Amino acid sequence: MQSERHADKLANPSRTIETIKKYGFTFQKRYGQNFLIDPRVPERIVESAGIGPEDCVVEIGPGIGTLTQYLSEAAREVIAVEIDRQLIPILQETLEGYDNVTVLNQDILKTDLAAIAREHNGGNGLKVVANLPYYITTPILMELLEGEAPIDTITVMVQKEVAARMQAGPGTKDYGALSLAVQYYASAKIVANVPPNCFIPRPDVASAVIHLDCRERPALPEVDEKKLFAVIRASFGQRRKTLVNGLKNAAGLPYTKEEIASALERMGLSETIRGETLTLEQFAQLTNELDRP
Ligand code: SAM
Repeated sequence: MQSERHADKLANPSRTIETIKKYGFTFQKRYGQNFLIDPRVPERIVESAGIGPEDCVVEIGPGIGTLTQYLSEAAREVIAVEIDRQLIPILQETLEGYDNVTVLNQDILKTDLAAIAREHNGGNGLKVVANLPYYITTPILMELLEGEAPIDTITVMVQKEVAARMQAGPGTKDYGALSLAVQYYASAKIVANVPPNCFIPRPDVASAVIHLDCRERPALPEVDEKKLFAVIRASFGQRRKTLVNGLKNAAGLPYTKEEIASALERMGLSETIRGETLTLEQFAQLTNELDRP
């Protein structure tokens, strides 16, 4: 097995501390740096991402290369995008012998993933994997989901509450605009809970790994995507308000209280209903009904 070839991996406290000391590395809070130190976590991530020898994987934020080593052993090729310049010489050493890894020193939000798919994967879907920097979890996820690049799956570590929001269904306390955005583009499943002691430094919050399959999208009526998300955002903007009041006060949506109430009535829904009880399909129907004369 390949993992035997690279027996001395980074995913333990002593190797991690030794590596960061050797380079005088200082953790940058602004980059959300918490490095994995428990081998069970990268093993679980690779397994739940379903990575095989055909796959081209993009890793966001390799850090010192802990998860990258496991990805490299499972995948055909790994493109690891790291913003922190300090980490580049470290990665050169820790990924020596992991010949299918390319490290790019850049911001993932400015990275052309469609070009990576073209150049490294014949234009086919990428698998994205990360222990995400928590300060930009949502912008990264939205860019991955809404962007033009072909992406088959996204398997990421996020804060536990964010994972709960991503997976939540109608009527639950975690349900909101993020749940609907994720569910519009993918099917979501939490695959592991990860406590703070699996990282150096220990984060203040618990974490979870969530797997998104972008090939499994829900069947929905045809709908103007921009308008759908404007309606969703407005419906959750003021949580304690009824849907009618949230929508009628929303900037950029031109509907009167009467128009909204009559759209709801045509859908067989009460005028006093709240946004958090509607399914994605009902939001799509409502978006279409609002424009019906
Ligand atoms: N993958 C490593 C691990 O699991 O041990 C490190 C994970 S750490 C939570 C997040 C990593 O993302 C850090 O290495 C950080 O420097 C990097 N990072 C932060 N913002 C980034 C960005 N905009 N683009 C690329 N990498 C970023």
